[in-house]
Amino acid sequence: KIVNSKAEEGRVMQLDENALLVLRERYLLKDEAGNLLETPDELFRRVASAISRGEDNDPEGRREEMNEAFYQMMANLEFLPNSPTLMNAGRPSGQLAACFVLPVEDSLDSIFESVKLTAKIHQTGGGTGFSFSRLRPKNDFVQSSRGVASGPVSFIRVFNCATEAVKQGGARRGANMGILRIDHPDIEEFVSVKRDPAELTNFNLSVAFTDDFMHAYEEDGEFPLINPRTKEAARTVKARKLLRLIAESAWASGEPGAIFLDAINRANPTPSLGEIEATNPCGEQPLLPYESCCLGSINLSRLVKDGEINWARLSELTHLGVRFLDNVIDVGTYPSGEIRDKTRGNRKVGLGIMGFAHVLIRLGIPYDSPDAARIGDKVMRFIERESKIASNRLAKKRGPFPNFRGSVWDGKNLLQRNATTTTIAPTGTLSLLAGTSSGIEPIFDIRYKRILLGGIEVEVEDPLWREIKDRADAEEKRRQLFRKAYEVPPLVHLNIQRTFQNSVDNAVSKTVNLPETATVDDILQIYLEAHRMGLKGMTVFRNKSRNYQILSCGTQQ
Ligand code: ADP
Repeated sequence: KIVNSKAEEGRVMQLDENALLVLRERYLLKDEAGNLLETPDELFRRVASAISRGEDNDPEGRREEMNEAFYQMMANLEFLPNSPTLMNAGRPSGQLAACFVLPVEDSLDSIFESVKLTAKIHQTGGGTGFSFSRLRPKNDFVQSSRGVASGPVSFIRVFNCATEAVKQGGARRGANMGILRIDHPDIEEFVSVKRDPAELTNFNLSVAFTDDFMHAYEEDGEFPLINPRTKEAARTVKARKLLRLIAESAWASGEPGAIFLDAINRANPTPSLGEIEATNPCGEQPLLPYESCCLGSINLSRLVKDGEINWARLSELTHLGVRFLDNVIDVGTYPSGEIRDKTRGNRKVGLGIMGFAHVLIRLGIPYDSPDAARIGDKVMRFIERESKIASNRLAKKRGPFPNFRGSVWDGKNLLQRNATTTTIAPTGTLSLLAGTSSGIEPIFDIRYKRILLGGIEVEVEDPLWREIKDRADAEEKRRQLFRKAYEVPPLVHLNIQRTFQNSVDNAVSKTVNLPETATVDDILQIYLEAHRMGLKGMTVFRNKSRNYQILSCGTQQ
């Protein structure tokens, strides 16, 4: 019932039932009546062929060879690019990036210009992030109407409604990130608004923390809130009281998340082009206004054989992955000229991994053991180093990214084709396609319910568990190795995040899952520790803190 004959062919490619469901619902080309017009194999052919066209801009381009190599790594489920690339490559839309950041200036023109671009981006499956920090606070003066301003939260609602109305061709509901600086006068309203589950359902919210604020917290000081229009302090708040309010909201609803602006800007590869103020929807990709970025993930789990990681293949995949993503920048189309120019100016790409938890299980290492961090460190250092070599080689043939001069790479005298090469994406859907654990997260459970787009609820059994569950030692393995997200202590979550962040240019998608019994104080401690560790952001999720959960535990073991 789930598959028809076209999708059926996916079986030869080791795609499981859920992968076929996702492909059919979301990725495979259909006619108006809903009949499938391509097989999974044809999808990977279509994508490889479109992306290898990027070789034509390279004096030493190898289109035929790359077409085959790109096809192989996708068809083997060793590498997958982000969803818009799978959906749109070689099709009329041709918009290939998952991540965008748009500016929101303190004027109606700017706000509604961004609403329009947001709609266009969502239509093609991309996600958008915004900083609303430049908007004047609620009840502030408005010159033109002699009235009062309605403030950031009310404008976030405008973006939220626009998103609601644009149903991404049935394929994806739009995803947004709304960010407000901790020193904005409307911060209390912002951090509390999503306690009402009906509010801003198409938004993730994050507070942009500064080191100054964290310092005021440590000192138990008063912290000034600044009106961005006048640049004057509107009032002061007790830093400890404000952070507690934020932790209470996160405890109650999983939101807001946190980004650490100073850590992000310390790693900004192009500081001369301005400060980074926002990230994409899931927080793993900080970007300048109008920048977009395409992500790709290596399925590390496919590279483990007989208790060993195949480093030679990991090196090949890293080089191919960077080349693939670099091609994407040239082959892709853009929702506006400005987005095209900013994106091609820095040529940021984000290569990362998925399947980390499965790798650990295959290697016989529990997620919450020191060896897990050691393996993570070794893997990500390796990918980071190889990705820089790959980008350097491309730069020698294709030229460095246009804003190379004055960038941190210029300072280090390392020619790079791309201002960034690495990101750890959530791989929410990609990991289902690839039949592995998502990103660097622990497994959620050995069986769980998952709500897919369109509200279809599917029962997912962990693919690795399915593989071994009939073996005599399955129960023992489960107890020793299948650590579930809620069983992993918060500090271990953070430590894994830090381990990867140390070798990643952009940021790391990671959730600190907490049991239902966790307290507001537990969450406060996690903020402090995440900042101390130098992380770029942080998300906590306490079990059952939202009525509507994408993932929910199926079986209690
Ligand atoms: P996928 O597995 O579908 O490729 P990820 O879960 O890895 O996507 O998310 C990567 C990024 O893709 C997100 O941070 C966000 O920028 C974008 N994204 C994810 N889901 C959506 C969505 N429903 N609508 C728009 N953009 C999305």
